[in-house]
Amino acid sequence: MSEHKLQEALDTLKGSNVRITPQRHAVLEYLINAMIHPTADDIYKALEGKFPNMSVATVYNNLRVFKEIGLVRELTYGDSSSRFDFNTTEHYHVICDHCGKIVDFHYPSLDEVESLAEQVTGFEVRNHRMEVYGTCSDCKTSH
Ligand SMILES: [Zn+2]
Ligand SMILES: [Zn+2]
Repeated sequence: MSEHKLQEALDTLKGSNVRITPQRHAVLEYLINAMIHPTADDIYKALEGKFPNMSVATVYNNLRVFKEIGLVRELTYGDSSSRFDFNTTEHYHVICDHCGKIVDFHYPSLDEVESLAEQVTGFEVRNHRMEVYGTCSDCKTSH
């Protein structure tokens, strides 16, 4: 399953004329397998053993390339570091107030919100983001 996703992602890179370096390959693989919505720092820490010459800045640059061609989504949270999500299908996030864990869930896309916002404000709407907050099951049992 994730092998298939990885192959698709690599094809997208090729189709966008992005060079597939061993680091890019590893970052992609990590993003696809890690369901934790990692920060650039998380990815760096997970891969630094394999790529001693890699820096956090390199990871960021790779993530920016992936973002530009639509492979990953960047989730920004004010001044804390961005998290990165491998962009498969449209989904929403539920976030734990205690440990910060982000879990995906699927719900029909709220497209009506976009058209309503356009009608009411005259904006040309690009996308929307909805997040649900609470206490995850791990934190619930330890409290
Ligand atoms: Zn939690
Ligand atoms: Zn997600």
